[in-house]
Amino acid sequence: MSIQAKGYAAFDAPVAEGGAPAHADGQGCHAGAEEMQRAAKAAGNSALLERLGRDYPRGPHDQPQSMCPAFGSLRVGLRMRRTATVLSGSACCVYGLTFTSHFYGARRSVGYVPFNSETLVTGKLFEDIREAVFKLADPALYDAIVVINLCVPTASGVPLRLLPREIEGVRIIGIDVPGFGVPTHAEAKDVLAGAMLEFARQEAMTGPVAAPRAGVSQRPTVALVGEIFPADPVSIGMLLEPMGLAAGPTVPTREWRELYAALDCPVVAGLHPFYRSVFRQFDAAGRPVIGSAPVGHDGTAAWLAAIGEASGVPRAQIAAAQNKALPGIKAALAATPIKGRITVSGYEGSELLVARLLVESGADVRSVGTACPRTEWSAADEAWLADHGIHVNYRASLEQDLAAVEEFQPDLAIGTTPLVQAAKQKGTPALYFTNLISARPLMGAAGAGSLAQVVNAAMANRERFDRMREFFEGVGEGDTAGVWQEEPVMHPGFRASQSRKLARKGLSEGDF
Ligand code: SF4
Repeated sequence: MSIQAKGYAAFDAPVAEGGAPAHADGQGCHAGAEEMQRAAKAAGNSALLERLGRDYPRGPHDQPQSMCPAFGSLRVGLRMRRTATVLSGSACCVYGLTFTSHFYGARRSVGYVPFNSETLVTGKLFEDIREAVFKLADPALYDAIVVINLCVPTASGVPLRLLPREIEGVRIIGIDVPGFGVPTHAEAKDVLAGAMLEFARQEAMTGPVAAPRAGVSQRPTVALVGEIFPADPVSIGMLLEPMGLAAGPTVPTREWRELYAALDCPVVAGLHPFYRSVFRQFDAAGRPVIGSAPVGHDGTAAWLAAIGEASGVPRAQIAAAQNKALPGIKAALAATPIKGRITVSGYEGSELLVARLLVESGADVRSVGTACPRTEWSAADEAWLADHGIHVNYRASLEQDLAAVEEFQPDLAIGTTPLVQAAKQKGTPALYFTNLISARPLMGAAGAGSLAQVVNAAMANRERFDRMREFFEGVGEGDTAGVWQEEPVMHPGFRASQSRKLARKGLSEGDF
């Protein structure tokens, strides 16, 4: 049986009817991380879980609170030229991931190898995946095929490491990206980018590799790590130019050969601080990684100094680069002030940088929450924010971000979809971090004024929110929202008797 639908490239994979339930089949986000981890360990994936635990330490919540984390890996694969991406997971997960990728304009098929209980436990699923990559591996079309194990195949130990390393020159990259081991979609980008970089590093160590499409840079380059706004590498290149340096490729890359060019950079700018496995590969290649980013006046001054020193640039040249860039940034910040109290939260990993820029623009930032973990590469930004009296809450849960909005009563709340919805419901202007803040330049002089426009426009909307609240006052909410106009009739006696029955079985309502 195979799935054929727009946006799917399905492979013929036989599916037996009515197979016996496997230990991890039929489970997913709703099964709970502990249950899935237990199954993964029983399936021989203890070492994988330990590595994921080290790279992506967990926080107050042990379940993904945003979209399925695997979307990060899928997106990285879909954005690369000559790269095919194949998912191995439950059909509902694959449906959601495929839907999201097309919602974000993937314009590329997502491969899927379906399974059922029987093919999962008998090892047939692995054979089906193997067959699928052999069918796909056409060197005229692809440089690489990425196979992503989602929760259930990871918990069942489907051994992607046993796939051939290359077929006809097409690289096969198999990765496990379970929601019970990789907490955010940001970190899932790191899983695939790190796996690709490791592969490319080993290739570069064994012989000559392809040069960048635009040729080798005449100046030493700085590799940029993090999915940044397309104009930001240009701004960074202009900042580096007085030091005799140039901006290198951005990791995650858009093409396989850019991985070699990134590894060829003497210094790495860790613009987004959660790319632990990517940084490990650069470290193995002997490339120092510099944290933070050229945001605002102070951030740019410190970043240019750190990059210049790590590259062996003379002090006078570093000063020349600072003197060229900083007055323009200061002027842009002064010309576009932001006045108002703001709370910042998100799961992109750039929350600290955005908060710095807001503070330098004059905003009264009260709290910064990020779903990403603290790493050594976020230390400089955290210290700068602490100096300005701002606490950073790493691995912040949605509940903590909502509590910050409740406590500080901001003029603007920046955050994830559920936070934005909750803030707007209270009449507080709010902006979605991913679509409205991440989609703007942040670096150098271009970044200095870019947030003010959208932030000031949103804060000016408070009166409109008040009018809307007034207009909808009295319209039902909770049980009486939408078409439901009457309060449901409660039967407390029935509820109490059910609770007693559950208690006798050692269960409670919360177990369902
Ligand atoms: S793959 Fe994603 S959607 Fe599916 S069970 Fe895991 S976390 Fe949930």
